Parts: sequence; structure tokens; C-alpha cells
Amino acid sequence: MFASIESPDFVPLKALLHRLAQQPPQVLLLEGGSEAQRLDMARYWAACCRCPQALSGGAPCLVCPVCLQIAANEHLDLRIYDGRISNKDDEENPGPIRALSMENLRQLKQLLRDAPHGEGRRVVVLAGLTGQRASSANALLKALEEPSPCNVFVLLAPQREQLLPTLVSRALCLTLPWPDPLARNAAPADWEDALGLFLQTGRGLFEKTSARNALDAQLAQLLILSCQKALARVLSGVADPASPLDSALTPLSASSLASCIAWCDEAQDALRQAVTPARVVEALAARLYVARGGR
Ligand SMILES: [Zn+2]
Repeated sequence: MFASIESPDFVPLKALLHRLAQQPPQVLLLEGGSEAQRLDMARYWAACCRCPQALSGGAPCLVCPVCLQIAANEHLDLRIYDGRISNKDDEENPGPIRALSMENLRQLKQLLRDAPHGEGRRVVVLAGLTGQRASSANALLKALEEPSPCNVFVLLAPQREQLLPTLVSRALCLTLPWPDPLARNAAPADWEDALGLFLQTGRGLFEKTSARNALDAQLAQLLILSCQKALARVLSGVADPASPLDSALTPLSASSLASCIAWCDEAQDALRQAVTPARVVEALAARLYVARGGR
């Protein structure tokens, strides 16, 4: 159960959650870790808020029906919403994690007024909040602002900076241990190679981006960040010859490099506005390729 947060690294944070559950903050923000770890930690927090053993001051037992239902996403008072699930998907194929549609938010608002089904508080988990539509972000903010003693909210994000400051300021922020730095860089490295090669040859990237679900927003963000770092190195004359991006960008003039840096910023903005990650990376790659003199 909660396999992704089993390692000893997570013990101090779990211990903190046990203590917090005695008087839960209305809004908790979990950042850091991986997507799976944040979701498991949110469920663990739900167990802290609901398991009878945890309610009497201990750790959740992880064997009672309440803990088992929470782990299986089947507990009636655990609601999980994800802003990245499209409304259409949600209607056609509703799963335990629901879209953050206006309709679902309306139903949630209604639900928040009712008492939870058993002892403890209802736990509402909200993920994928970056680049959310203003209307649903506002509806959400209102829900978080209203005092609701029977409910607690958990916001999940890779980094708190990716959320609206108005959301962050209402939350108690806790950081999961960051994944191993080598593992963290493994995924973008592959993409850096592909992008570097594309800038030199005009080939090989679009096949990769057009594969279904190949590039999620987090990975695209890391890839663009790698690009920004490479541009900064090249611009300050400390290009890393081992980096495919640095090698591809080295022939550019200082003014072209400055334009490229601005395009990377625009690309990061586009990701925050929920433009499809593959399209963002393709558009940026095409601009960099042309700047390098390719056609
Ligand atoms: Zn339990």
C-alpha cells in the first residue's frame, strides 16, 4: 500500500502528517517528489484524517477497511480531481480521479455542505492545477476560502511556484523529498539529444513528439529548462562540449541567443496556459532551427 512512499526518506514527512491530522489545516500543499509520490502522500494524508487508529492519535493502521478503501480510491469521503483530465474524457469514461470541470466543481460545492459519511473529515485532492481556466480557478478559490470544518483540501504540484499565489498563500506547504537527481535528469537527457540533433539536421524530433503521450507538461518544462541553461552557458562563453544542446547553439550570434532565450520564456508561458506540450516544444524547436540558419 502506498508503495511509492515506502522508502525511509518519507518517514519524517509521514510523522509530521500524523501530528497535523490531530488538527488538520484546511488546505495542505504537497510539492516535490514524483507525481505518483505526491498522490500516494495525499492518500496517506486522507488515511491520517480518517483511519480510527490515526484519529485516536497514532499512525494510520493501513489494514482497516477505511485505509483499504482510501488506498483503492474507493472511499466515499476521498475526492480526487485533476485539471489535466478533459471534460470529454471524464464524461465518456469517468474514473476515480475526476476532471476539474465546472459541473464537477458545482457538485463538489454541494457535497462540501453535507457532513462526511463517517468520523473524520472529507479529503478533497486537487492535482494538475497549472494553466487552469480562470473561471474554474476562481470557483476553486472560493471553495477553499469558505470555512468548512468537515473538509480538508490537498493541492498537489511539482513546485509551489507553478500554482497561483492566491492558492499557495492559503495552504500549509510541505515538500516531499526530491527524486534522485540522476533519475530526475534521465528522462530529459533523451529529449535533449533529440532536440540537439534536430537543431543540427532538421530531423528526428517531430517523430518523437508526435508519439501519443510522449511528452507531458512536466517533461516539456524540464526540456525547455535545459534549453534555457544551455543558452545561458553559450551566451556567457562556458558552453559544455558534452551537451548536444550547447553544441547546436554555439554557432548563434549574441543577438540570436537573446531572441532564443525570449522564445524559451514564451514556451514556458504557453505550457502554463495548458497548450499541448508537444506543440510547444515543436514550435520552439522550429524557431531555434531557423535562428541557427536551417530552413
Ligand atoms: Zn486504518
